Amino acid sequence: MSETLPPLPASVASVFETVRARNPHEPEFQQAVHEVLDSIAPVIEANPEFAEAGILERTVEPERQIMFRVPWVDDAGHLQVNRGYRVQFSSVLGPYKGGLRFHPSVNLSIIKFLGFEQIFKNALTGQGIGGAKGGSDFDPHGRSRGEVMRFCQSFMNELYRHLGEHTDVPAGDIGVGAREIGFLFGQYRKITNRHESGMFTGKGVQWGGAEVRTEATGYGAVFFAQEMLAVRGEDMSGLRVGVSGSGNVAIYAIEKAYQLGALPVTASDSSGYVVDDAGIDLDLLRRIKEVERGRIAEYAAARTSARFVEGERPWSVPVDVAVPSATQNEIDADDAAALIGNGVRIVVEGANMPTLPDAVAAFQSSDVLFAPGKAANAGGVATSALEMSQNAARQRWTFTDSEDKLRAIMRDVHDAAFAAAERYGRPGDYVVGANSAGFERVAHAMVAQGII
Ligand code: GLU
Repeated sequence: MSETLPPLPASVASVFETVRARNPHEPEFQQAVHEVLDSIAPVIEANPEFAEAGILERTVEPERQIMFRVPWVDDAGHLQVNRGYRVQFSSVLGPYKGGLRFHPSVNLSIIKFLGFEQIFKNALTGQGIGGAKGGSDFDPHGRSRGEVMRFCQSFMNELYRHLGEHTDVPAGDIGVGAREIGFLFGQYRKITNRHESGMFTGKGVQWGGAEVRTEATGYGAVFFAQEMLAVRGEDMSGLRVGVSGSGNVAIYAIEKAYQLGALPVTASDSSGYVVDDAGIDLDLLRRIKEVERGRIAEYAAARTSARFVEGERPWSVPVDVAVPSATQNEIDADDAAALIGNGVRIVVEGANMPTLPDAVAAFQSSDVLFAPGKAANAGGVATSALEMSQNAARQRWTFTDSEDKLRAIMRDVHDAAFAAAERYGRPGDYVVGANSAGFERVAHAMVAQGII
């Protein structure tokens, strides 16, 4: 991957060369760093104090990274050993904050790319949270509840010593939902003998969780699309929406798209996608994916208006708005060409880094409005910060109140990215805007706090 990345401006090129040399087997991490460096060269050039304080050199190196053994016993009585990770990237703006991902593809490169993105995403929310990410190559699919519980307990037996409401506050990500968070939180409480509500977000609403946290990432991505349209005096009503994925982000992006009068027509998982011209039946999708934990083909089998396409991604389906909400690198240059050829107008990243760099470039040169995940999916972590506030104050806000706050945060994130893009001479470029606005906040705080 990194061999194919284009050359960077002189002001940031040597930092990237160091990253490449120091992290040679981490293509996703290199890709994420490259994208940020490419965007923020003008910020570095305009602020000589950032170079003097070594902001870039320090930002690309995690403050701390933890890797650990996670042994557990499966239902057949066999020993299993997974690898656990937590990369604590930056605490300059607040306690480390970011999700845990349980998926067989997890490795250090994936966790570092996610942690690096999280620094700037979290800064953009304006909520006083640092950046981190963690997880394991454990695959919860096909595992019994007892196996998942024993894995989570073993994972926390090591990770607890690095966490705390003022230190590091994890949440969910792919493969880590309400069930896993319950087990992880329970084990932390058991080991520490503290009911420290604010040490984990995404908790069940009955035991310290916040209203709207479950919905927040998907809702927030659609709110972001709404803001992009509002700049042009348009709205979502009547637009066809293509969503990938069928997890938490996808489901709530679909729900919000309906509420705003749009028609979501696709969903997917790693086995393929479904297209449903009558509009995705959300109850059916939720039953298959959330209750039965089944495969997406079952959706098409149960609905005559739908078709299942095996082994493909949904980007050849004509849509006005695309919301990639599955995983990283799921839109390549061919997918982008298909979307553009079919007249897509807006691409909003619900997942983290789902679009490959040449696909981003293709969208931007075709005047497709493109919102990077750092901005568009920031609603999830922003609502996590609202959960932390409620836990600290022992309060519980209503759904309506929380959704209003999320909407306002997404507007602020949009406006911050939009304004920074204008300021750096790239109007309408939300990649430059989001990276520059997030980076500026981090960099100013690092200068103020000294070389540590
Ligand atoms: N995993 C989510 C993200 O990518 C949420 C993190 C959090 O709430 O801490 O932003």
